[in-house]
Amino acid sequence: MGVISLYLHLGFLYMFRKIRQALITRFIFKWFSSVLPPMSITERQAIAAGDTWQEANLFRGKPQWQKFLANPKPTLTPVELNFLNTEVEELCAMLNEWQITHQNYDVPTSVWNYLKTAGFFGLHVPKKYGGLEFSALASSTIVQKIATKSLSVAVTVMVPNSLGPAELILHYGTEQQKDLYLHKLAKGVEMPCFALTAPDAGSDATSITDEGVICYGEFNGQKNVLGMRLNWNKRYITLAPVATLIGLAVKLRDPDKILGVDVDLGITVILVPRDVPGIEIGKRHFPLNQAFLNGPIRGKDVFLPLDYIVGEREMIGSGWKMLVECLAAGRGISLPALSTAMGKHAFRCCGAYAKLRQQFNLSIGKFEGVASALANIGGLTYMLEATRVLTLSAIDQNFSPSVVTAISKYHMTEMARHIINDAMDIHGGRGIMLGPRNYLGRLYEGMPISITVEGANILTRCLMIFGQGAIRCHPYIRQEIEAASMQDKAQGLDMFDRLIWRHMWYSISNGVRLVWHSLTCAVFCEAVEDKSFWQIYYRRLSFMSIALASVSDVAMLILGGNLKRKENLSARLGDVLSYLYIASAVLKYDYDHGEPKEDRPFVRWCLDFCLHQIHHGFKYFFLNFPNQFIAKPLQWLVLPPWRNYPKPKDDLSIELSRIMMEPSELRERLTAYCVVSTDPQDAVGRIEAAWLKMQLAEPLLNKIDLAVKQGIIERTSNAYKKIKLALSNKIVTETEAEFLFAFEHMRLDAMQVDEFTQQELTGK
Ligand SMILES: Cc1cc2nc3c(=O)[nH]c(=O)nc-3n(C[C@H](O)[C@H](O)[C@H](O)COP(=O)(O)OP(=O)(O)OC[C@H]3O[C@@H](n4cnc5c(N)ncnc54)[C@H](O)[C@@H]3O)c2cc1C
Repeated sequence: MGVISLYLHLGFLYMFRKIRQALITRFIFKWFSSVLPPMSITERQAIAAGDTWQEANLFRGKPQWQKFLANPKPTLTPVELNFLNTEVEELCAMLNEWQITHQNYDVPTSVWNYLKTAGFFGLHVPKKYGGLEFSALASSTIVQKIATKSLSVAVTVMVPNSLGPAELILHYGTEQQKDLYLHKLAKGVEMPCFALTAPDAGSDATSITDEGVICYGEFNGQKNVLGMRLNWNKRYITLAPVATLIGLAVKLRDPDKILGVDVDLGITVILVPRDVPGIEIGKRHFPLNQAFLNGPIRGKDVFLPLDYIVGEREMIGSGWKMLVECLAAGRGISLPALSTAMGKHAFRCCGAYAKLRQQFNLSIGKFEGVASALANIGGLTYMLEATRVLTLSAIDQNFSPSVVTAISKYHMTEMARHIINDAMDIHGGRGIMLGPRNYLGRLYEGMPISITVEGANILTRCLMIFGQGAIRCHPYIRQEIEAASMQDKAQGLDMFDRLIWRHMWYSISNGVRLVWHSLTCAVFCEAVEDKSFWQIYYRRLSFMSIALASVSDVAMLILGGNLKRKENLSARLGDVLSYLYIASAVLKYDYDHGEPKEDRPFVRWCLDFCLHQIHHGFKYFFLNFPNQFIAKPLQWLVLPPWRNYPKPKDDLSIELSRIMMEPSELRERLTAYCVVSTDPQDAVGRIEAAWLKMQLAEPLLNKIDLAVKQGIIERTSNAYKKIKLALSNKIVTETEAEFLFAFEHMRLDAMQVDEFTQQELTGK
């Protein structure tokens, strides 16, 4: 009886599904297939690259805060810490950025040698191949620390450790290639570069016309060797001028069908030794006054056997997949490290400078306008550090989160751009006049480089974050696309039928949740179980996450493939996803440090800032959505008129600026692993030393200020005269006056800029 009932049940289900397919799903399937944007194989590979992580929960309207907070707190190992405190310190002590970028236009030979012998070119290479086998957190912190002393040297270290021959061989090379190259790359015996970009192929790197043709040729005196004849013209290649091993991306072709039936074999990465005939290399580009080596590289009829392909014959045509997979992790390490370095450096220097520099008899940091700029630097730096360590923790847990790293690359470089602009404004002319005393100019000049490389920013925001995010993070879309693209349409329909109904349920439940939480002002939204000071923010973010899930589904339903072309719309939804992630990073950082009271103004500033950006993203999405009949009610639910998310308030900004101008545990923790000198001969040390002295001088200066207010000392006197008058009026003692003279001397010295003769400038 039971068996019959089971069969009847299954039969009924089968019939029900068949009827459902015939009467409903078939038509949805047809419509879905017609609105799918055309997707090339390379686009499919890019979308498939990497994993998803916390961003998928945020995208689906279920942040799962408790699980998220349980992720391990990222920490450096004792060996990594030791390297930072010894080798990196030693390296930084050797660096003179002005000499490197203005006088030599190159990193000194002694520095090159030290980088090689100390293992800086093998940070990720396993120990068995002679590398240091450091975590992503360690390599990011190393690059970050170097960048606070010299951007050019940081880039020189960063490039061989990110997307380049070592990473490619490590992940896709044969055992023989690993044995042959990794040791030499880790020790700097081989200097790598990675050559993809060509004059006619930048952002759209898959359109490269550089070519390899399968043929027989002569190699090392041996005739009739099966290999490839390569022709290429690459530009903008970092380290090319000194490279001895080029990771070259070309399109491989087999017109004579020597390897099989296919003529176009696809993008393939080849290891090209510098000394094979036909290579033109050595000239330099000059990227915005930076001294790291970058230049063009060309090859004419270069012949190499097939075993020079990374991964040999098995990896022919897999070049693009290899690149996007490596980039999925790599772009979460290098440029975020440089961006955080800029933030930390600006935090320290601007906090100190805004206190030291006086106008209208006051430290400029006390003026509200300057305080706002200072607070931007402080708040954004807090977000940078939080996002950096969170993203690295994902990479170190062996995730390769492609959406999260795209978010990090885009938003962290943009935050650094804001920071460096504010830092320049705060410094006025002191930031503009280049020379050994200037500690901002080269960072400012280098900013557009971070914006452009590893996925230019406009493209990353408009195409990658939401475009890839929606497909990767959505629970059903990717599989539905796969079903619609199947050759066997009946099988595709069957798979689609199973997905689409679950998809509908997902959309309906998100819609219901959105209405409910909107009407109840998000008070029942997910927060954390433990009592957190930030419960209300957890709830607000949960609400925005539910809103994103619903709005994304509606946008995909209404616009279909057009959403990809409506770049501004998808960019705004990408902003919402990004700021949900960045706010999560801030909460996690605060949680990992025990929610210290001292951090509260910064955390609040960051969360207000993120919610404002989310609000802004939604607002302009609704405003520009083509179908206003749908946009208006959605807007009313997501952003009801009575709920506003303003920018951080002025009072909060002033509080941040005040904290930044004083010594604190927060300042030291947040700017850890910056090169900090107190040597008055050093560019940064000059400011730091004067600022430290000012902490001691302040009580005495306050006494003098009081005397000025009481009319005992003339207001218009300069600082030296005021000290003299204070001494003669017995307001300060002789020793105190001497201390104040010494401080004033240091303060004025810290305000000075460099001067050059024409001869010194031109070197003639
Ligand atoms: C200092 C430096 C070092 C570099 N090092 C290397 C290296 O070692 N190896 C290497 O192979 N390459 C390297 N590059 C190249 C770098 O990756 C490219 O510059 C980058 O891919 C952008 O290409 P492009 O400069 O030709 O700009 P373009 O592709 O011409 O882009 C111009 C603008 O258009 C935008 N854009 C393009 N398409 C779209 C779109 N569909 N939607 C929205 N916006 C779009 C871009 O975001 C950008 O803002 C380096 C570049 C620089 C500047």
